[in-house]
Amino acid sequence: MNDEQYMRFALQLAQAAVGQTSPNPVVGAVVVKDGEIVGFGTHLKAGEPHAEVHALRMAGEKAKGATVYVTLEPCSHYGKTPPCADLLIEKEVRRVVVATTDPNPLVAGKGIAKLRQAGIAVDVGVLKEEADELNEMFFHYISTKTPYVTLKYAMSLDGKIATKTGESKWITSEEARRDVHRYRRAHDAILVGVETVLADDPSLTVRLGDGGKNPIRIILDTRLRTPLEAKVVRDGETPTWIVVGSEVTEAQMAPYREKNVQIIQMNEASITIPSLLKVLGEKKVMSLFVEGGAAVHGSFVAAKAFQQVIAYIAPKFIGGKEAPSPVGGSGFAHMAEVMSLQIKQVETIGPDIKIVAKG
Ligand code: NDP
Ligand code: ZN
Repeated sequence: MNDEQYMRFALQLAQAAVGQTSPNPVVGAVVVKDGEIVGFGTHLKAGEPHAEVHALRMAGEKAKGATVYVTLEPCSHYGKTPPCADLLIEKEVRRVVVATTDPNPLVAGKGIAKLRQAGIAVDVGVLKEEADELNEMFFHYISTKTPYVTLKYAMSLDGKIATKTGESKWITSEEARRDVHRYRRAHDAILVGVETVLADDPSLTVRLGDGGKNPIRIILDTRLRTPLEAKVVRDGETPTWIVVGSEVTEAQMAPYREKNVQIIQMNEASITIPSLLKVLGEKKVMSLFVEGGAAVHGSFVAAKAFQQVIAYIAPKFIGGKEAPSPVGGSGFAHMAEVMSLQIKQVETIGPDIKIVAKG
């Protein structure tokens, strides 16, 4: 096996932990000695050992003189665990192959420099593109301190997300909806507007039937109109945060708090997207899955505050000029202002189509 093949195995190990390491990146490591894999590991959860630690532990004495493949630059700072660069030096590995560098200002090249200073050969950039994509959300979060935002919607072939009476169950097939649940699992939080809660009473949980964690549910609700009977308030399945404007009173909030709902009160009377993202970043929300409705998507688009769009398109006609389309708000007035995206993926899911586009 060559460098790329070992690195591919390390990437698979990292991939397996997507959605469970936030606010840390996913990382995989493989230890190879004399053409044999003698250890491997993946970072499973923030606060637990890094991938290199697991892999070196498995390798034991065989780590000495080995080559270590790691999908992200080894850390060089004291976080919740001691630096992996130090451990690699202590175990006297001969060579380290790194897929991509860590943009975290606490690491950023220092891990690699430390290894080289200790006389370890370091090669950087093997399968870099794949490694960068795997940690796209973490890289965005660490460099902007705000969550990576994915906008998602399901629409008919004529571009409607509900009928004129507000019905939207269901536009797309069960297969497409299952796919949505996989994205929910991969994000830290799901966000919707209060009108979607009022219209659909969604539970916003992951229903893949295999356990696993549910993301936090976030409702944008300036005046606190979310019904106390709403599923997101009463089911207790996973934390719910309701974001409100500055004019909501303590008395209004009290009954929600009693039901363990967290209220996030903004400093301004209305909720602006840049301030919201800043607050969520401070609360360590690394990734946000925005599921609408139209008004909420409109605000994120107007603020150009998203990194990815996932659109499911069903071969159905809803019709009517009053039926809403995915992006509301006031829209751009001129073609010169409109946002251009790049299509990254087009896939058929059951009878529907999924398009993934990036900004
Ligand atoms: P939204 O769900 O987008 O909620 C909008 C409300 O959120 C606003 O009226 C506002 O109420 C509150 N809000 C608070 N802050 C903001 C902000 N910064 N930007 C925007 N809204 C904010 O409402 P829509 O009516 O547009 O969409 C609801 C409809 O869409 C339903 O019929 C639902 O079924 C459908 N839908 C369809 C989806 C699909 O993929 N097919 C997905 C989601 C919904 P306030 O001023 O009181 O705070
Ligand atoms: Zn480390």
